[in-house]
Amino acid sequence: MIQEFKLTCGRCEEELSVNFYDLLPLDKTNKKLLKTNDLFTVVCPKCQNKIKLNYDCVLVDEKNKYALALVVEDEDKEKVISLFENHDQNYRKRIVKNQQEALEKTFIFDSHLNDYAIEIMKAVHKIGLLKEFGSDTDLKIYYTREPIVCFVILMNGESYSLPFEKDFYDQVVRDYLNEDETNFKEVDYDWAVRILSEEVNA
Ligand SMILES: [Zn+2]
Repeated sequence: MIQEFKLTCGRCEEELSVNFYDLLPLDKTNKKLLKTNDLFTVVCPKCQNKIKLNYDCVLVDEKNKYALALVVEDEDKEKVISLFENHDQNYRKRIVKNQQEALEKTFIFDSHLNDYAIEIMKAVHKIGLLKEFGSDTDLKIYYTREPIVCFVILMNGESYSLPFEKDFYDQVVRDYLNEDETNFKEVDYDWAVRILSEEVNA
């Protein structure tokens, strides 16, 4: 299905009508746009103004078999997931909240890694850093593979990198992972913290 958007250019006030697909292929072109946060950028044909949109859709990588439901507003989650319901279900299915999270999943899945393990590793790092620098520290961690494979830490406006430790990854895969892949899931920091605390309380 195609979603049609009407919008007005903020610079020249041209009325624009743009079409987006509910299911958007994660091909080379779209992955490149995801990297520059331009997947939903519309260029005004009259004045070349770039307009960034956010909209709900499912990003589908047919080759590596994963689907990312991009949910801008949490209340629309079920609606977005339903866009995929007539599709072959034999996919890893994740819910992501923005292009950054979608990009991270593409890095993980295209490297044939397990995102459950990556999120647990990130949570272990994050919990350690919050202990060290205070629990109110503004802190984000992302897995990347460009330009090199590592974890990027964004903390108080500075960015750092942590090496990706393959031994640690293998250990997490062995110790934690037994997940069913039936439904779309949010595999993020909150998920990882839940898994880690179940482990502590077991
Ligand atoms: Zn314009």
